[in-house]
Amino acid sequence: MIAPAATLEAEADRLLKALLHVDCEPSGRRWNYETCLALAPLTLEINRLKREKDAVILTHSYVDPEIVYGVGDFKGDSYFLSLAAKQAKAKVILFAGVVFMAETAKILSPDATVIVPDRGSGCSLADSITGEELRRLKALYPDATVVCYINSTAEVKAESDVCVTSGNVYHIVANLPARRILFVPDRLMGQNVRDELRRRGVDKEIITSDGTCMVHDQFSPADIAAARAQFPGLKVVAHPECTAEVAAAADFVGSTGAMMKFVKTSGAPYYLMLTECGLVGRLQVEAPEKNFIGGCRLCPYMKLNSLEKIRDALATPRPDQIVTLDEGMRRRAARCIERMFELSPTD
Ligand code: SF4
Repeated sequence: MIAPAATLEAEADRLLKALLHVDCEPSGRRWNYETCLALAPLTLEINRLKREKDAVILTHSYVDPEIVYGVGDFKGDSYFLSLAAKQAKAKVILFAGVVFMAETAKILSPDATVIVPDRGSGCSLADSITGEELRRLKALYPDATVVCYINSTAEVKAESDVCVTSGNVYHIVANLPARRILFVPDRLMGQNVRDELRRRGVDKEIITSDGTCMVHDQFSPADIAAARAQFPGLKVVAHPECTAEVAAAADFVGSTGAMMKFVKTSGAPYYLMLTECGLVGRLQVEAPEKNFIGGCRLCPYMKLNSLEKIRDALATPRPDQIVTLDEGMRRRAARCIERMFELSPTD
């Protein structure tokens, strides 16, 4: 069904208002009235399908900005979206992110039909360890409490005692009764947790598996030094999935939510964001007065999401786009995530 010209023009105006300031993409992609008018039929159709199917769309900050601002009902990091998934009353949840996030939505909302637009949207972290490999590690360290970062598969969550995010990891690990922690799957975040807890005077032995995020492990202290020489007064903002050397050289290290808050509330002339470019795009929309000097990187998995795939998956999902989980495994994984909600800081 073709929308009337006035409806398309109003939708193009709505999209342009959000996307006008976004220029973070290394590809140089920009949004103007013509590009927004070309997107309008798709966003209108997806928003109509949402009403027809009783669906909500959860959008991670790293997917393309026309998805976040064109069709997303909730936007944020994995923790915020996990909560949104838990509270969603919709019959259908479409997760514009990566597969482990859609699995998390299914774990928390078992009665909903959870859809992922592209089954190939994996994650170098989540895919770095299987449930079987974690069982073998657990056998080597039977006295350890098993902590999994939320960037892990459902079967790894099912094998873990408690889940954490980049926003609550320090608090939860510091307050666990066990001294020995088996932390999976992020070796670099494990190192950052080890360093931060040592600084806080907390005595923990943290054993990690060997995964890394293919986006955040690419940044180097040399990038930071070169940027500081060129932009005096620069603030460097990094994610805890970066290396310990990068974290030590940054001005601020935090979860995506904390990074956004830091930029919005501080007054530096320039920012270097050591994270995925989608987060810079969100800041350009929500804090257009701030200056970003580039240097972000793209996650190829997140970029597999597109408006066309979302429309097709909502209209008639293929079997591979519908997330299904073994019920016993789902219940064990749900317990691990519920423990995170119980142990998270309240402020
Ligand atoms: S940015 Fe890194 S952690 Fe996030 S989905 Fe991509 S590979 Fe995984």
